[in-house]
Amino acid sequence: MSDFAQTVKQQADIVKVIENYIRLRKTGAQNYSGLCPFHKEKSPSFSVHAVRQFYHCFGCHVSGDVFSFVAKIENVGFPEAVRIVAQKSGIPLPKREFSSPEEAAEARQRAKLLELHETATAWFEEHLRGPEGAVAREYLAGRGLSAEGIKTFRIGYSLDSFNALRDRLSGMADNETLRASGLFASKEQGDGSQGPIYDRFRKRVMFPIANESGRIIAFAARTLETGDKAGAKYINSPETPLYSKSQVLFNLDKARTAVRQADFALLVEGQMDCISVFLRGIQNVIATSGTAFTGRQVDLLHRHTSNVVVNFDPDTAGADAAEKSIALLTEEGFTIRIVMLDGGLDPDRFIRERGVEAYMAAVRGARTQSDYLIERARAAFPGPGAEQKVKQINFLLPHIRRNPEKLVRDQFASDAAQKLGIDSAMLREELRQAALKRRDHVETRARALNEVERVLLRALAITDPDDEQARRLAAEAIARQPEWFEHLGMFQALQALAGRQANDPMDVVADEAQRALLAETLLQEVKPPELREVQSAIQELQERALVSRLRDLRTLLAEAERRGDFAEVAVLMKQKLELDRALRLLHQDPV
Ligand SMILES: [Zn+2]
Repeated sequence: MSDFAQTVKQQADIVKVIENYIRLRKTGAQNYSGLCPFHKEKSPSFSVHAVRQFYHCFGCHVSGDVFSFVAKIENVGFPEAVRIVAQKSGIPLPKREFSSPEEAAEARQRAKLLELHETATAWFEEHLRGPEGAVAREYLAGRGLSAEGIKTFRIGYSLDSFNALRDRLSGMADNETLRASGLFASKEQGDGSQGPIYDRFRKRVMFPIANESGRIIAFAARTLETGDKAGAKYINSPETPLYSKSQVLFNLDKARTAVRQADFALLVEGQMDCISVFLRGIQNVIATSGTAFTGRQVDLLHRHTSNVVVNFDPDTAGADAAEKSIALLTEEGFTIRIVMLDGGLDPDRFIRERGVEAYMAAVRGARTQSDYLIERARAAFPGPGAEQKVKQINFLLPHIRRNPEKLVRDQFASDAAQKLGIDSAMLREELRQAALKRRDHVETRARALNEVERVLLRALAITDPDDEQARRLAAEAIARQPEWFEHLGMFQALQALAGRQANDPMDVVADEAQRALLAETLLQEVKPPELREVQSAIQELQERALVSRLRDLRTLLAEAERRGDFAEVAVLMKQKLELDRALRLLHQDPV
């Protein structure tokens, strides 16, 4: 670890850094816990040790320090993680060093692309305010957006020109970078090469798309034309080094705090709906932009909450995407409720027509997913006939199976049986089977530690000089008689810990499973062991070693006697007597 990384590690508070990503609750003198961001769960098994500055999950057994947390959750390498932690902790960065010229070039390009997007955003904003922006302003006013709201979302307008933005940005970056920004398009030439670039967005209302830290990385652009000339209603930035559609949730940057506070996210379909709902004070709202959720987006959301209230219109073109999103969220253990607005209105129109209070009431009254699906099953296959019942059940079975929690499936199945009036024993059995089956996650609990291992781990992890004696006792015993410890599952960890200098205990254990067990032990036991406990642990191991040696001797003795090798018998007898004596002594006084 570099000096800078060391400094950052000493100054950063792991609890504060992790709280940027997930909610933590204080659960002990030194511990905090929350829902693990690395696996799906409903009750918190993710712990952070505030004193020792590490995290550990009792569910999926990941553990590490503040850097490994950030590296994992941000999906970045170690140097980048150090940088992020430094930034979050207000520690000034040294001049940046890169591990390779490619990395340096990439970072330069990213920085430049962000700068281009920032400048473009300001440029679009300016034109929305200018004379050319009149029609766009009218459109936005018609959607109920105030000047304040326009400013909040930095909405802008792109001129009706093929080169206005290009001329504005061309002094800032080379042609290759401009192409990479996605702000421009070009036509393929006869020889297969790309022709000159021109403005991609023309005469459109520009909605910036930000990443989770609020930097603008792309745009969604809505046409103001109608008729043949209009083209697609919305066009979006293409995939670029900054922007990948499947990795962004619209408005998460602004919504994240409110999502955590409310402990649910309100999910709407379109950006305009999202903006409209947000500006009316419901700030925990995000949008998918009409496509189905990806695993990456689910992960993004899972860091902040496990509850989603979905407000999609099930009868629109987006219904398919909505259904897929709901399916994926269900599989990932989200609790989902569904808002149905009267008259099939979208959120934006509903709020404009009936007011925000009515909308909030609808959100509060959102139905559980099972109620909603049962209702849909009934609507799709109406009628009392047995055949219809079978179809209704078949519609529901995949949804039931999809739920990772057995309890939820049970409830769902029995609700369905009751609400659909299923009295056929066979159909009831099918429902029951659907609730039963399904890959209930297998508990991959790591091997439990025995008491001796726990005491030794705690002793060897001592960092307080006041308790040094216990640490030294254990370390010296391992160095002197490694054979007493060899059979322990944690032997490698114990040896590494015994040999550690001033390092952090969590840093010296290389094996991931062993490190996880160490983390669990340290989280469970707040105090270091007393000297007496360490002594008796070592004594127990010594005794086990003696007993095991004694057992071997008896076997050897029996063989020697059978062979009639009395010289050998004499030697072995002598050894046995010594062992017996050692064992007796052991029981009289401790080492
Ligand atoms: Zn976990």
